[in-house]
Amino acid sequence: MSGRPEILFPLFSEVEALQGVGPKTAQNFAQMAIETPRDLLFLLPYSVVDRRTRATVKGVDLPAVVTVEVTIGEHRAARNRGGAYRILVTDAEIDFQLVFFHGRSRYLESQVPEGARRVVSGKVELFDGLAQMVHPDHMVPLDEAAEIPEFEPVYSLTQGLTQKTICKSVRSALARLPELEEWIDPAQMAKENWQQWHRSVVNAHQPNGLDDLDARSPSRARLAYDELFAHQLTLALARQTERKARGISSIGNGRLQASVLAALPYKPTAAQSRAIAEIATDLGSGKRMNRLLQGDVGSGKTLVAFMALLVVVEAEGQGVMMAPTEILARQHLDGLRPLAEDAGVVLELLTGRDKGAERRAKLAALERGDIHILVGTHAVFQQDVVFHDLRLAIVDEQHRFGVRQRMELAEKGQGADVLVMTATPIPRSLALAQYGDMDISTLDEKPPGRKPVKTAVISTERMEEVISHLRQAIAQGRQSYWVCPLVEESEVMDLTAAEDRFKRLRAVLGEGIVGLVHGQMPAAEKDAAMAAFQAGDTSVLVATTVIEVGVNVPNASIMVIERAEIFGLAQLHQLRGRVGRGSAESTCLLMYQAPLKESGRKRLEILRETEDGFVIAETDLQMRGAGDMIGTAQSGLPRFQIADLERQAGLMAVAQSDARALLTTDPALESPRGRAARVLLWLMRQDRAIRLISVG
Ligand code: ADP
Ligand code: MG
Repeated sequence: MSGRPEILFPLFSEVEALQGVGPKTAQNFAQMAIETPRDLLFLLPYSVVDRRTRATVKGVDLPAVVTVEVTIGEHRAARNRGGAYRILVTDAEIDFQLVFFHGRSRYLESQVPEGARRVVSGKVELFDGLAQMVHPDHMVPLDEAAEIPEFEPVYSLTQGLTQKTICKSVRSALARLPELEEWIDPAQMAKENWQQWHRSVVNAHQPNGLDDLDARSPSRARLAYDELFAHQLTLALARQTERKARGISSIGNGRLQASVLAALPYKPTAAQSRAIAEIATDLGSGKRMNRLLQGDVGSGKTLVAFMALLVVVEAEGQGVMMAPTEILARQHLDGLRPLAEDAGVVLELLTGRDKGAERRAKLAALERGDIHILVGTHAVFQQDVVFHDLRLAIVDEQHRFGVRQRMELAEKGQGADVLVMTATPIPRSLALAQYGDMDISTLDEKPPGRKPVKTAVISTERMEEVISHLRQAIAQGRQSYWVCPLVEESEVMDLTAAEDRFKRLRAVLGEGIVGLVHGQMPAAEKDAAMAAFQAGDTSVLVATTVIEVGVNVPNASIMVIERAEIFGLAQLHQLRGRVGRGSAESTCLLMYQAPLKESGRKRLEILRETEDGFVIAETDLQMRGAGDMIGTAQSGLPRFQIADLERQAGLMAVAQSDARALLTTDPALESPRGRAARVLLWLMRQDRAIRLISVG
């Protein structure tokens, strides 16, 4: 199938092909990202207006939308320009008025002559004790009353569009709806009581009351499932393609691993050993690995990653580990290098900072195979970085990168096995949406001896107390992070807040005790500040959220977060994870600016109650919504128009297993159901999947 199936053509024409849509309306639609009838149909009404006819306005709780049969009475033209044109009307019980501004009397007299019977529908309100309907939405002779829908859908609008226009265009789009073959598993259809696609789209746009707007209503649930299924099918196709691609089999001899483990002051946890074994199996198989290592902050992912890298080095290949920030890349280097050197493994760092001759020398060594493991930022995937024999690519803190970037990485790796690591525990539905194409290893256990972090929620009004507490802690040799708020999205504002706080703390705590690190600092200064803190030369590190991911200073036992109420829960959890890594009791102070809203208080309370990243993540999702939680744009999380990831987690899981099952029995999508699924992929604009099935 090289192009869009013909049966979908009517849905992919220009919107101007719809009745009542001219260039102006088309422009308005474009502002809402509606470019085709298909897009319009995926915009579902968010409310309905009850326009069922009643006998009288009498007794109705006003203001309210009322539909009623009336006899037209006297017309009273406006007394002055801009005045109201009034028509007295009588329903079964009482009199009221229809009111028109700028009403043209000739037109109104011909449309609703005195003595005529009409059905009128519109919002009735009391004005000076009189019931009146200003500019009725509908005003039709009795024999046309059926034209007024009992329940009129309400759409979200952009400037310049009216409900009337949108309803009319939707009706015209519905008239083009093709009947499509079913792509959903018949058992699933029956179990959920779903109707065929065509019927479901119509129902969704012609709700019969508020219940039909519920995400759980059969029509909406089915359309949501279509979205999830199309997405999972894309991921499953990607997974199938990747596994088909011949991977490289890397089998280690265990020599380097054993030597490193012997040098470690601790033993791997059971969870770490399990993950290391799962990865080694993948590396040794001829299939290409595409695996996610998920583990809460501090669960020890770095060791697992290093063991995996050692397998490929033992097999005489190379590995690369990419971190999202310079600080993290450098930290990996500092942490791993001593271990690597003892084992005779050559580890090198490459970041955007490497320039000129030094960079060229590193690249040459890499190409010769003299560097075994390359650690760095995204710079490691620049065009001119060539490996001698790359076997394994690891991406740390994957949540900073999107699905698309990850797939690109896999493509660049030319058959290399891929391991991505994330410290952001995410709810199952989101994990499936984001990582549905991968296999997952989970570190569900933390290294022993971790003490819980004492978490307190306090107002910024108590800043002085906090500072004096800090002074005592410093005297005891403890170290502390002080995180400044993310003010709006602006790095510059971030900076001022952090710099001001730095100056103030330096003034009260003393010169040389306080360090500062933020994203816009020159690289060398950043390193120096981190190194000084790591070495214990400074006791307090004032920082923006650059320290959010991965930074590891075990002696730091206090985390102060200013304006905690404006951070995301997952982010706060990450930040708190920076302490509680050593043997000392740790404290996390979440400072808020009073007054704190009820919802804000609730969110911070959760952090006080639990350190379980998964519980925190689920709560965050419930309270904020999926897009907000990960920041859709940066997460690469697909944007679902109808599906609701918070409430339809179950459907996502079904979609994944169904998509994988379909591909197992019909890998090329050639059965009748497979062909129907292809149409779905086109309908849902799943370009990537379409590319995969076109070549496959
Ligand atoms: P994360 O999963 O957040 O990346 P790290 O890999 O940075 O965690 O590990 C956190 C800390 O725990 C490090 O100081 C590391 O040396 C230590 N660590 C890792 N594994 C173990 C273990 N099995 N026992 C004790 N400490 C460990
Ligand atoms: Mg880490």
